[in-house]
Amino acid sequence: TEAFLRRVDKITAAGQLASGVAHEVRNPLAAIKWSILRLQSMYQDEAMFHLILSEIDRIDETVEQLLSLSREKLTAPTTIDVKSLIEGILPLMQVSATRQNVEINFTASEGLPAVFGDENQLKQVFVNILKNALEAMDSGGTITVNLGVHSETQLEMRVVDQGCGMPEELAARVGEPFFTTKDTGTGLGLMMSHQIIREHNGRLILSSTPGVGTTVIIYLPIADVQR
Ligand code: ADP
Ligand code: MG
Repeated sequence: TEAFLRRVDKITAAGQLASGVAHEVRNPLAAIKWSILRLQSMYQDEAMFHLILSEIDRIDETVEQLLSLSREKLTAPTTIDVKSLIEGILPLMQVSATRQNVEINFTASEGLPAVFGDENQLKQVFVNILKNALEAMDSGGTITVNLGVHSETQLEMRVVDQGCGMPEELAARVGEPFFTTKDTGTGLGLMMSHQIIREHNGRLILSSTPGVGTTVIIYLPIADVQR
């Protein structure tokens, strides 16, 4: 109970901070964007306005991701069928996958046990990981998603991509807040994923080879064993 109350405190503080940020950053940002759009219609320099507007959108997306860190935190944990959860996410990825000539292969063992946790948060983790895999695969290929039992107490989800991969010094830095190599990246996806999996008493392991691809393995405790 004490631990739970501490958690509620932390969540409430984070929530207040986040909504403060929402007001202090997003409202002026919206006003700036509106003004820039007005200016754009008066001037000719398209490229400059394009840059300003896309940077405004980037700030907005960063704030949105920070907000989603504290949002939905208080939803009650439930038992989750990870296979169905992933099956629900894959169609969302399919449009980008098709556009990029990427095939997503999903396999899952029969009769998998459930895990215990926050469905929205886990969904967010899987979306983050799959989006990263897709974004690394400019020249097409296959993403293999594998779900199975790792041990008596652990479920294992493995995502293998054939993307650009990362050199060691880069792989060591991913998951640092705001660390990104993408023009429009936020560098928050893996940090949040690590945090969420940790809160579920699981583990997230990333390994990568430049030019070959990246593998992300997520271990999650099986529901009945955890309680
Ligand atoms: P973002 O996707 O916004 O950049 P992330 O935290 O999701 O932020 O990822 C951080 C960085 O890690 C990415 O910019 C990229 O350089 C690297 N990365 C993550 N996943 C992969 C992957 N599957 N293949 C290659 N690089 C990756
Ligand atoms: Mg990402």
